[in-house]
Amino acid sequence: MFTCDKCGKVDHVVVDGYDIGERLLEGVSFHIRREEGEFSAKVAEEHLPYFKRNKIAAEEWEEEMVSFVEDLDIAACSKCGWDVAVQEE
Ligand SMILES: [Zn+2]
Repeated sequence: MFTCDKCGKVDHVVVDGYDIGERLLEGVSFHIRREEGEFSAKVAEEHLPYFKRNKIAAEEWEEEMVSFVEDLDIAACSKCGWDVAVQEE
């Protein structure tokens, strides 16, 4: 869980794929969850067809995103888009 100043507890935050894949993944949303200190990342369902169409391995990028968020400070609230601290409950 994460805490948004506006929404309270939210179960996931959102990171744009540009941060790990630059233009290849620009505009692709990854949903980030954290349970017991362990991060997980999933490509937003509406963007999966893009991966299939272009034969991009979503799972590999999801792993890449997990490594990325381990050092990330701020991501976007999944409800309102506001900045949320990634490393705090
Ligand atoms: Zn929020």
